[in-house]
Order: sequence, then structure tokens, then C-alpha cells
Amino acid sequence: MNPLLVNLRCSACSAIYPADQLINLCTCGKPLMAMYDLAGVRETLSPDILKERSHSMWRYRELLPARGLHQIISLGEGCTPLLDAKSVANNLGLAKVWVKDEGCNPTGSFKARGLSVAVTMAKLLGAKKLGIPSAGNAGGALAAYAARAGLEANVFMPQDVPIANRIECEAMGANINLVNGLITDCGQIVGERAKSEGWFDVSTLKEPYRIEGKKTMGFELAEQLKWHLPDVIIYPTGGGTGLVGMWKAFYEMQQLGWIGPKLPRMVSVQSTGCCPIVKAFHSNQSSCEPWVEAITIAAGLRVPRAIGDFLMLKILRKSGGAAVSVKDEEMMREIREIGRSEGLLLCPEGGASFAALKQLKNSGFLTQEDEVVVFNTGSGTKYGHLLKDTL
Ligand SMILES: *Cc1c(COP(=O)(O)O)cnc(C)c1O
Ligand SMILES: [Zn+2]
Repeated sequence: MNPLLVNLRCSACSAIYPADQLINLCTCGKPLMAMYDLAGVRETLSPDILKERSHSMWRYRELLPARGLHQIISLGEGCTPLLDAKSVANNLGLAKVWVKDEGCNPTGSFKARGLSVAVTMAKLLGAKKLGIPSAGNAGGALAAYAARAGLEANVFMPQDVPIANRIECEAMGANINLVNGLITDCGQIVGERAKSEGWFDVSTLKEPYRIEGKKTMGFELAEQLKWHLPDVIIYPTGGGTGLVGMWKAFYEMQQLGWIGPKLPRMVSVQSTGCCPIVKAFHSNQSSCEPWVEAITIAAGLRVPRAIGDFLMLKILRKSGGAAVSVKDEEMMREIREIGRSEGLLLCPEGGASFAALKQLKNSGFLTQEDEVVVFNTGSGTKYGHLLKDTL
């Protein structure tokens, strides 16, 4: 383990737990967060030292729970490109639009970041069998990292999960269980079976380390932009792990003196067919009601209830951000538009981010001077089943 990892702190009640054990939620039922000795990190790591390091998200290992290179279960995740989307910026009249292309990760999505860290820690702390509920990409990523670590992966997915996700899980040796329901139903089954079967439950935010992997997106953005964060970040939100994780990274970098006080306005994007965060944001609630009848082609956004909802809502408000819902047709239209103008094959969730960008320019939330980072969270190559009908 990383000796600079001090303990785990509850994100709701601030209770403290030791980090050297397999653990899920706080006794109060809320997510635990990894706390580091940031003064100690400051003495050992600096932006200059980072320049010498390899291109993997583990370059930030002083701020990750495992540090020994022989302990890390890696497939080369992170350090994804930050691409200048010039024609999009020109068309919309924005100073700068960057695309953080997470489709370049192993297993084709940013789920690789979280599961690289979670599987590394689960193995280090003695787990042999892992269980996960997944709307699609998390299952594929767990299958890959568990295979590499020599651990058993038990994946529970909705029966109508994208076929590519079933295929990748099967090919990488995971046990697949298809469920007549949504990711929340899968999560409940995993919770029950974990107890009886001795699995460690790696549901997002129900164990403390997937968020640590996803927070590296925040470090990368800062480093790629020479330690100046953008004005706005647009992020397609399911469980919200990336949004909460990046915010944690910003806090840590401020404590380290790597970035200044100004933070980006954070924008959560969801589908009109499942947008509990958008609804709660606009009705001034501090947590969400479960969404009934969640229907969207964007599997990663088909999350009717997220355990970290209260954290997302706090961040959106504190940052002066926004919450936006877009129609599935708009996502599909953006996939074609961005494909033709930028040469990028987006996933539907990435299409949602670009549709939100347009909406926010039209509404006046974005102004001409704004520099915006838009997240494409996965590779479009897994979504042939959605695109083939227009051939
Ligand atoms: C899981 C997923 C999301 C949602 O990510 P969160 O950080 O859990 O909100 C978005 N896009 C894709 C492609 C995903 O797989
Ligand atoms: Zn608690």
C-alpha cells in the first residue's frame, strides 16, 4: 500500500476507518473516501517530477492507494488525449472546446481507471472473488483486470446490456449473470450474493477505490492544460464517480499548491429518459428520488439511483455548474456530427455531452470566452448495434 494513504473518511458523517482492510460503506450507509498525508505528498511529488514519469495514470501513485509498481494491476490506463475540437468551437462561437477522449483506455472506456485501482487494492487486501453490478462497461473492465490479477469476476448486467459488453466479459473469463432489471436491481443481487458467496462487492462508491482511479482524470486535465483548469467541464453522469472523483482531485491539487483557487463549473449530463440528478438539481433537493422507468440507449446513464447523488448535487451547486438532460436522438445526431467534423467516434454518453454543449451555449450558460472540456467517456466501437440501422 501507499504509506501516504492515512485512512478512509465517510463522505457524510466523517467517521474514520483504517484503510488496510476490505471495506464497503460506512456504518451510516454512505461512501468512504481515501485520505492522504498531503504534506507528505508535497515533499515527494511535484509537477516537475511528473515530467519524468511514464504515460499511465499510475504516474500519480503518491495520490493513489497502492504505490509499489509490482503490486499495481495495470493495462496501461489513463493519459488519454485532450483534443482541440476546433470546428465545434468555431461553429458554436466558443474560445476553446477540448475533448477528453476516454475511449482510448483499455477496454474502451474510463471504467478501466476505477477498476485498475479497485482490483489492485482488492487483491492486495486478500480478496479472491469479486462481484459487480454493471450497465455495461464496468463489467468489461472488471473482467479484464480480474483476469490479469488472477481473481474471479462475477458480473451482473441488465439482460438488454449492449452486446459488446457481454462479449468482452465472456472473452475475458468473467461469470456473467443477466438480470431482468436495471443496474440498481443488479446491485441489490450482488450485495446479497457477496455475503453468501464470499465475494468482495466492487460496486462504484460502495468500495473506496474506484473513485481514486477516476479522480486521475482531474490530475490529467490540469497537467495537460499546464496546471490551469478549464472554465467548464461537461460530464455524462450515471453513478457520478468521475464527477465526484475529479472534484476530489481538484481539492488535493489545491492543497498541494499545484493549482490556484479557481475551479471549473461542473456540468452533469443525463438522458431525458433517466435524469434523476437533473430533476433534483432543478427542484433544489439535496438528494434524488429513484427514477421510475429508466429508458435510454446510453447504458452508462441508465442509473435510476446513485449512492453518491448528494455529493454530485453539492458539487454542481458549489461550482456554479448546471445539470442538463438531452434526448437519445440528439446523442445519435452528435455521434454523426462529431464523427464527420472531428474524426472521433463517440459513445452515446459522449454524444450526450456534445448535445449538452450546444444547449448550454444557446441558453447563455456558456459565453464566448469560456474554455470547455467535454468528456467522451467511451469508444464508439462498442455501439455498432445502435449505428448499423442507418447503413
Ligand atoms: C459508466 C459510464 C458513464 C457514467 O460514469 P459515472 O462516472 O459513473 O457517472 C458514462 N459513460 C460511459 C461510457 C460509461 O461506461
Ligand atoms: Zn458515515
